[in-house]
Amino acid sequence: MSLESSLRADIVEVGRRMYARGYTASNDGNISVRLGEARLLMTPKSVCKGFMTPDMMCITDLEGRKLEGDRDPSSEMLMHLEVYRQRPDARAVVHAHPPTATGFAVAGIPLDRAVLAEVLTTLGSIPIAEYATPSTEELPEAVRKYIKAHDGMLLANHGALTVGADLFGAYYKMETIEHFARISLVARLLGREHVLSREEVGRLQALRGAYGIAAPAPICADAADALGPGRRPPAIGSAAPGGTGEVACQVVQAPEGGGRRLVLELTHGAAPPAPAGAGGEIRLTYRELSALIEDAIRSLR
Ligand SMILES: [Zn+2]
Repeated sequence: MSLESSLRADIVEVGRRMYARGYTASNDGNISVRLGEARLLMTPKSVCKGFMTPDMMCITDLEGRKLEGDRDPSSEMLMHLEVYRQRPDARAVVHAHPPTATGFAVAGIPLDRAVLAEVLTTLGSIPIAEYATPSTEELPEAVRKYIKAHDGMLLANHGALTVGADLFGAYYKMETIEHFARISLVARLLGREHVLSREEVGRLQALRGAYGIAAPAPICADAADALGPGRRPPAIGSAAPGGTGEVACQVVQAPEGGGRRLVLELTHGAAPPAPAGAGGEIRLTYRELSALIEDAIRSLR
């Protein structure tokens, strides 16, 4: 089987798995892979990814001009082209709408807490690219900010995007994101998340070499702790922290010190975030804090 035939078959298989796992509904999602240095093999627009056949794929150049195929390339082709432009190491791009991860993307909650070793070693953190209208020039622009430092990200109010050194590598990162989102949701519903220490995150990062994981950027300290409340992560091409340039590292929330921090999230809604770097072991929501104060006042009476 030629390389092209086997890649066509691989795209069909990845599409089938994504649809079977509920990562896409109807005609959602798209997949592409490098076919040599100057061409891409890509899913066509308006087909269900669960029922594709190898002959449906399009071949385009790196500017998005169609070279081969009966159908038009994916409606999100611009996003794929931008990823390949920014990441010469990326050989494949997968985009889907896995429901739990997309729920986080809709809620505006990035998957950036240091809780699972395998997520830290592979993806580091999973940020959220700002909302952009699908299929327009806005989407590649939103993705550009994070793609040099991340192999996976959420797309605000939309879905998720992953890249890999090969097609299955990109697809497995999509599985990891959705799996991580489900575990994070369960932990938060249960009311607590034990966050790994910054020291442990350092040890896990050191394991990347041992596992042969070629991450695009290092993990960096909790930006809020490092730079002060309200600041943004350090960025490439931006002298001052807090600029709108490209993010240069994988910002992970991990507390300083040898122990673990217990994060309580028993209430939902408008509770203000706990102050960063306060040095406490337990974070309380506004409602929990109010209850503690009320108890204290009652005991004084
Ligand atoms: Zn989409």
